[in-house]
Amino acid sequence: MSALPNGYELAPVMALPSGFATGAGAAPLDLITNRTTPEKRCAKTFGMAGILGTWGVLVNVPCGQWSCVSCGAKKARRYAGVARGGCALATERIRLVTVTMPREDPRESWRLLGPRFGRFAERMAYRLGRRLTYFGTVELQRRGNPHLHLLTRDSGYVAKAALAAACTGSGFGFVDIRQIAAGAGVQYVTKYLHKSAGQEMPKGVRRIRRSRDWFTEPPTVKSTWGEGWQWQSIEGLDHDAVEAEMRAQGVLAVFRYDQRVDVVAND
Ligand SMILES: [Zn+2]
Repeated sequence: MSALPNGYELAPVMALPSGFATGAGAAPLDLITNRTTPEKRCAKTFGMAGILGTWGVLVNVPCGQWSCVSCGAKKARRYAGVARGGCALATERIRLVTVTMPREDPRESWRLLGPRFGRFAERMAYRLGRRLTYFGTVELQRRGNPHLHLLTRDSGYVAKAALAAACTGSGFGFVDIRQIAAGAGVQYVTKYLHKSAGQEMPKGVRRIRRSRDWFTEPPTVKSTWGEGWQWQSIEGLDHDAVEAEMRAQGVLAVFRYDQRVDVVAND
């Protein structure tokens, strides 16, 4: 019986070397080898080979970028979970806010997206008497401009006129707000998350906007590596060949380790 998805095969069970320190909750089960769906792998995976005495490890580090089809899809799934988790905490009706840009050069829209949003959040906090609780995603429009789709919860009554004033006062264009059922809202926003996966957006754009109180994700397991490991880049090399070479050099056992922890930075 295995809790692992199909296509995963465990490395031979062996005691871990002392230098192989793992984070809290990490188990030898994290040492997974022979993933059988290479086509779904991140094309920009960065590989490292580490040797500690008789032990060796091949580590695959996916690029973790939104613009990567594989990693982008993974990130979209992760943030869909964040959107869902926050909606599940709602005690009032959830509202969906669509914020557009004024008619202008798309480059201006992208450049001003962050500052405008900061001003918008300030103005809303002032009007509501408390900070807005929100989760939002950026949509790349066909004409090249961004749109913002925000879910808000438990922020009290937001008058359309007040919202419109906060938007135009922050430099945004047209705004729309509607009450929605939780499920529908998550579907609406996650649609744009999935659309975002694999899409190129201007460098440095934060595709996710969320208030700190929206939802707290459970901590992810991270591995740390002890002293004494020798690391070498194996980018672009065939891992079977690298493993064979490591064994030829006297390494008795080689684990393959897919670092399946999503990159948390650069929302
Ligand atoms: Zn990738």
